[in-house]
Amino acid sequence: MDRIKIQELKVFAHHGVFDFEKEKGQNFFVNATLFLPLQKAGRTDALEETVNYAAVCDDIVNEMQGKNYDLIEAAAEAVCVCLLNKYPRLQQVDLEIRKPEAPLDADFSSVSVYISRKRHRTYIAFGANLGDPLAQISAAKEAINADGSCKILRSSEIIKTTPYGGVEQDDFYNGVWETETYLEPEELLDFLHRVEQTQGRVRDVVWGPRTLDLDILLFDRLVYESERLFIPHRDMKNRDFVLEPLASLTPDLCHPVTGQTIIEMLGEVKERHICK
Ligand code: AMP
Repeated sequence: MDRIKIQELKVFAHHGVFDFEKEKGQNFFVNATLFLPLQKAGRTDALEETVNYAAVCDDIVNEMQGKNYDLIEAAAEAVCVCLLNKYPRLQQVDLEIRKPEAPLDADFSSVSVYISRKRHRTYIAFGANLGDPLAQISAAKEAINADGSCKILRSSEIIKTTPYGGVEQDDFYNGVWETETYLEPEELLDFLHRVEQTQGRVRDVVWGPRTLDLDILLFDRLVYESERLFIPHRDMKNRDFVLEPLASLTPDLCHPVTGQTIIEMLGEVKERHICK
């Protein structure tokens, strides 16, 4: 993809684990690569079609000087999230922060951290049937949007469904959110578990009642498997209460493994129910 590069931007700031680093401050050097389509700007010669690198430099300086971090990792994370939030055109930001005056008893020219953050499009299913389900869903939505690392772009209608898995319990309220996140899959799962916990989720009975359940259905076109996470979600193909709200948001999206569209998957699951 096209990119804009900012190299060796000098910023005087106060980051470091030692008190004297926070008191005295030192010079940091920032290298940023901004990934965005530049074709239109190239053809029209219009500043509105790109990202103004002077403004980006100001944002980097403000973010670096606005708070004193122990770690340049934390400063780098804050700068990336700030730029991705402020400039919707940016698809990805690669950022290096160099610290040539780091208090090290060694002969070195510089230490640095280098991170890369990009936007991911994800679909998250939510379900609740204990307590006040609609209030919990709404509180979870607020908590997700308030965090800064994940934003809900669109919500499906909330549907009321009879429970799945044979455990005697109240009806569920289900739906799907389309989200954009800078988190990687495992981080997103941890984040969603924390949101579930804020709504009093206890993991006991499989398929049992729950104050809030959040599942990652799809994450870009990623196919991913670890001990605790499967993407795409393994059971989505069997759950009409997931496929129906998902299809209302994105009927033509293709499952990255089978290539089926969501609307085709929904048709299939409905047919299986009729055949039972
Ligand atoms: P649940 O009871 O639906 O919250 O799911 C229980 C466990 O499923 C979680 O603790 C996850 O480790 C695991 N899991 C596997 N794949 C996924 C996924 N795509 N989204 C959410 N949880 C998942």
